Amino acid sequence: MSTRVSIVNVRDYDSISKAVVGAIKLVEDNLSFDFSNSNQILLKPNFLRAKKDACTQPDFVEGVISYLKEKGISMNNVSLGDSPGQQGTNASDVAREIGVLDICKKNDIKVIDFERDVPVVETIEDAIQMKNFHVAKAIKNCDILINLPRLKSHAEAMITGAIKNYWGIIPGGLKAKYHLLGKTADRFGEVLADNFSWVLKHKPKRLTVYDLQEIMEGSMGPAAGKMVKWNLILAGTDELALDIIALEIGKLKAKNVPHIKNAIERDLGVGDLDKIEIVGMSLDEAKNQTPKFNVLGSNMTSFISYITGHLAYKIMKKIPDLIKEKCAQCGQCAEICPAEAIKFEEGNYPMFSRKKCISCLCCMELCPENAIKAKKRGLRGIFD
Ligand code: SF4
Ligand code: SF4
Repeated sequence: MSTRVSIVNVRDYDSISKAVVGAIKLVEDNLSFDFSNSNQILLKPNFLRAKKDACTQPDFVEGVISYLKEKGISMNNVSLGDSPGQQGTNASDVAREIGVLDICKKNDIKVIDFERDVPVVETIEDAIQMKNFHVAKAIKNCDILINLPRLKSHAEAMITGAIKNYWGIIPGGLKAKYHLLGKTADRFGEVLADNFSWVLKHKPKRLTVYDLQEIMEGSMGPAAGKMVKWNLILAGTDELALDIIALEIGKLKAKNVPHIKNAIERDLGVGDLDKIEIVGMSLDEAKNQTPKFNVLGSNMTSFISYITGHLAYKIMKKIPDLIKEKCAQCGQCAEICPAEAIKFEEGNYPMFSRKKCISCLCCMELCPENAIKAKKRGLRGIFD
């Protein structure tokens, strides 16, 4: 099995949206489907929260729309949908805040909030952790899925990219429920790979356009990390191959990222660099113009957990740490915590139970004020 991935340099084009079209055209011969035979094409961006840096860029959405229009696709057949990680927010709110809604309105594209429809319960064959789960109805019903991830560091999964972006097919707070199945970095990696294996089996017509134009790095990712320009866009149909290429460009070992390691072991795509045909810019050129992808502590956390197992994991695992000056005492973190580890009383700061906390860091990801940071459990983690 082999696959094709395109790498384009945004600086070779007049605009990001033109570079998106260029990246897709380089892989279109590799598509196993015809856009014109579909009446339900769904764009799945990364809409973590109403913050531009944390989301798929509007230019990306515009580029994909331009490509589909060039192909003569009616916009009546196209919609865009997601379920943001932040509680109380929906895809329409995020799209409005970051400028995607205007683009959708201009092109008569419907925006779907995954939480508004009753989800579908699905079985995942060959799952390791997540045997059944809830999938957004729009995902279940679409014919063609266009995945629009952005490369970011991620406190729990180490990175979010092509495979991790599908975590958003689980609507709303249900994500937190399934997050509970992944109590360690390795187990969460298995859960993410389970989720991806459902997509592979049930959504064979897929295209991914991967935003490496400006990536997010550092320990505050995926919501508030440091933005670094890479000026690259990738496109292809194999998410595992795309993540491997993205990490190769960033000089990060793919096998150190739990969900990618698991996807390679389970053959969930092309996991061998030698079997990936690269078109456009060469991999060496892309690597030479790109700085190392800095994912800080999570890198070491996961790396050590592979070698020494659960003990090292318990010491190095991160827990939430409240930044009181930023906290608006809204209580959202307590509502979302799947382990009921946060106690909240009106007019007070939330209280975190170290003992109950499963280190999912959903609270950090979802806090609207960025008032939670991750800190290492340290040696006390062994006794918790
Ligand atoms: S930590 Fe964040 S989510 Fe929790 S109460 Fe404070 S502002 Fe709200
Ligand atoms: S306190 Fe935060 S990190 Fe701990 S279990 Fe709850 S949501 Fe997850």
